[in-house]
Amino acid sequence: MNQTSKHIAVIGGGIMGVTLAYRLSQQGLSVTLYERGDNLGGLAGYMPYDGIRIDRFYHTILSSDMTMQQLIEESGVKDKLHFTATKQGFYDNGQIHSFNTPLDFMTFPPLNIFQRFRLALQVIYAQFENDWRKIDNIPVEEWLVKVSGRGVYNKVWKPLLRAKFDTAFTDVPATYIWSRLKRMMGTRQGVTSKEMMCYLENSYYTLIEALAAKCEEYGVTIKLNTVIEEIVIEDGQATGVQTAEGFQSYDAVISTLQSPILGALLPDAPRPFHDQLMRQEYLGVLCPVMILKESLIPYYVLNITDESIPFTAIVETTNLVDTKYVKGHHLVYLPKYLAPDNEMARWSDEKVKSEWLVHLKRMFPDFDESNMVDFIVQRARYVEPIRPIGTLDDIPKIKTPVDRLYMCNTVMIYPSLGNGEAATSFSYEITEQVVKDAAHWQTPSKSAVTVYPGG
Ligand SMILES: Cc1cc2nc3c(=O)[nH]c(=O)nc-3n(C[C@H](O)[C@H](O)[C@H](O)COP(=O)(O)OP(=O)(O)OC[C@H]3O[C@@H](n4cnc5c(N)ncnc54)[C@H](O)[C@@H]3O)c2cc1C
Repeated sequence: MNQTSKHIAVIGGGIMGVTLAYRLSQQGLSVTLYERGDNLGGLAGYMPYDGIRIDRFYHTILSSDMTMQQLIEESGVKDKLHFTATKQGFYDNGQIHSFNTPLDFMTFPPLNIFQRFRLALQVIYAQFENDWRKIDNIPVEEWLVKVSGRGVYNKVWKPLLRAKFDTAFTDVPATYIWSRLKRMMGTRQGVTSKEMMCYLENSYYTLIEALAAKCEEYGVTIKLNTVIEEIVIEDGQATGVQTAEGFQSYDAVISTLQSPILGALLPDAPRPFHDQLMRQEYLGVLCPVMILKESLIPYYVLNITDESIPFTAIVETTNLVDTKYVKGHHLVYLPKYLAPDNEMARWSDEKVKSEWLVHLKRMFPDFDESNMVDFIVQRARYVEPIRPIGTLDDIPKIKTPVDRLYMCNTVMIYPSLGNGEAATSFSYEITEQVVKDAAHWQTPSKSAVTVYPGG
């Protein structure tokens, strides 16, 4: 078998799956990409609105995301990438405070001078820590309180942790916040400390669309609206996939699905592997986007420390994206990450809207609903993996215990955070592994025949 006669199924058309299909086909492998939705993109996908594309969930690329920028260049959309210096703020005790310049920092009202010093020390401390395994057994709260002190923890870190983990952060290792501090400092440009973020015209999907076009150039078959119902295993080897159309054989199968979703497709996998996938927990997200006539805040992100407000940040992406690319609309996202047992996941869109607006009006008494053109609720069940302390050994491996079944998802990119940069870099790693292995696949896979129902 030469490389092109080796046929691989990639399951999942999010940024990870699309990058993987692109890279594998570039290396000469024959690829079919399966996506259950009617469009590619997954969490990084778009919703059509008023004749334009709007990110389902706010998405930015950081100036330090070099793999992403390389992909943007390779796929021919570099001219659509724009850099902007963004600002952030904190909403605390009924007041909004800027948190951008050294002066903002030195006069940040929620903290006293001693606490400000300890907060700065924490950020510096994280930059000098290079061995994440050393801190992976330390609970995030303990690590932060040691350097920042309890006051700073309660005022700054705890609200930020709550924003990302809901109530599920007591078991989270220090590595999580360390990764985040490293990533955020990577976007700071010299002494000006201006945060540089990037966006693509016409949404993040512009990159996915360009990569999909490259994939098609390299001969990838993209199957949208196609749900994988089962990954078929025969004699310990993945031999193909089952869809509504029937069975299709492949030389190898690569899943980019979140662990429990993959587990459900593997009824015949070895029990310990199946159980390992099924016990991985994820946070979900509830994330309304308001389409406004006027801007709400001057920041890209306003972090909220007040725990009585159900959403944990306000993200006005049109303080990053030029409104001329979104027909003059102002886009404001109001996210809430949800622990697996949070009953808000079952709230109707109408209930979310009424609850969210009550609190928004509390924060902004002058907010006039006639400024709001739309309020669209987006949600996703499997978003952020929860990886408790002491479970490093439970992270699945790229090569699964099933021969010729590979997997990759955001659980596995630890200690990096689940984001486009980490997902695309990880796709390169998988490509290398699969290309290396494919060279040794001397025999056709065990089921070489495609069988369709009735045929
Ligand atoms: C609110 C929010 C904000 C974010 N902001 C940023 C940001 O600013 N910058 C950044 O870099 N990252 C951001 N992220 C993270 C980023 O979206 C994810 O890391 C990334 O999209 C994960 O991609 P993925 O391909 O691994 O997974 P997914 O996007 O989940 O893709 C998996 C795909 O598999 C498909 N699928 C599932 N089951 C099947 C099946 N049985 N058969 C076929 N297909 C199936 C799904 O439909 C989906 O398209 C954000 C995420 C959220 C939720």
